Amino acid sequence: MNKCALSVVVPCFNEEAVLEEFSGRMARACAAVTSDYEIIVVDDGSSDSTWSIIEKLTDGDPRFVGVRLFRNHGHQLAVTAGLSMTRGERVLLIDADLQDPPELLPAMVNVLDQGHDVVYGKRIARMGETPFKRFTASSFYRLLNRLSSVPIPEDTGDFRLMTRQVVDILNSMPERHRFIRGMVSWIGGRQVAFPYARDARYAGTTKYPLRKMVALALDAVTSFSTKPLRAAVWLGLLSSMFAFSILLYAIVQWAAGNVVPGWASSVATISFFSGTQLFVMGVFGEYLGRVVQEIKGRPLFTIGEIRQQQAAAGRIDDVHGLQASLEKRHRPEKSASAP
Ligand code: UDP
Ligand code: MG
Repeated sequence: MNKCALSVVVPCFNEEAVLEEFSGRMARACAAVTSDYEIIVVDDGSSDSTWSIIEKLTDGDPRFVGVRLFRNHGHQLAVTAGLSMTRGERVLLIDADLQDPPELLPAMVNVLDQGHDVVYGKRIARMGETPFKRFTASSFYRLLNRLSSVPIPEDTGDFRLMTRQVVDILNSMPERHRFIRGMVSWIGGRQVAFPYARDARYAGTTKYPLRKMVALALDAVTSFSTKPLRAAVWLGLLSSMFAFSILLYAIVQWAAGNVVPGWASSVATISFFSGTQLFVMGVFGEYLGRVVQEIKGRPLFTIGEIRQQQAAAGRIDDVHGLQASLEKRHRPEKSASAP
């Protein structure tokens, strides 16, 4: 398929309140860089009027591409769907809510064109975010970096500009549980931070409730580290030692003629150990569940419709190509050699 100079990927989940303002500002920012751009707007199974706004955008401007997923697949997979369709030599990932200012694009393109592979936005200020969110985010990144062998930059979301080469590698990574900022760090190359002040959401409410944040954090930890599995061994060892010393204490007391009194201590000890065991099993379960889902090898996302003034058909072939190549990785063909 023919290339263009710049692609923008925007995941949208119920973003009717911001999409019009966003598309205007984004298109102006792109035009300041090149006229040869495309803006791929992915509707991640919205239940509001997001898709009809996207239809209007694509009908009014050939550079807009609308992608409607069949259902809500979550932010990371919506981004994946958009990325699989990009044609640009440079690709920008940006949220629809205008927290990441589109106007930074020309400066980011300058940095990328100086010979970098990835320019990632690093938040030096965050407006309109609760102290709770800031605290949990920063403790999470500290924990993740202790666990992961791939350094993952702190205060960094998915707002970033990447070269075609990086996006091609990203598109070839088959995993279902995607933590895209970590995957991009893993790819390597010349990556540079681009400091910026993050605005408050332009309108609407966050589409990342605590539940989705926890799910993303668990995906990040399980895809970038197996250390929690080893921690289970240490935890088991420590609690066995603890149990053993209690036993020793009881025997010594018994030999000295004291009856060790109290059911409360036994109950507390039993609950402590059952808690530890359940916790450790839960950690195993988090990994095991992901293994089960990965080996099923289902498509990462399901596309309902692609909308563009022309050439939308070619894109659907591209996506099917991506799905087919991912599937091949999951189920490699048997070698042709004779038995
Ligand atoms: N989003 C999505 N699917 C989801 C949740 C979010 O496509 O299931 C999009 C959302 O529309 C936005 C971006 O992901 O463009 C980031 O979400 P949001 O701004 O609500 O997250 P926050 O900035 O509050 O962490
Ligand atoms: Mg946001």
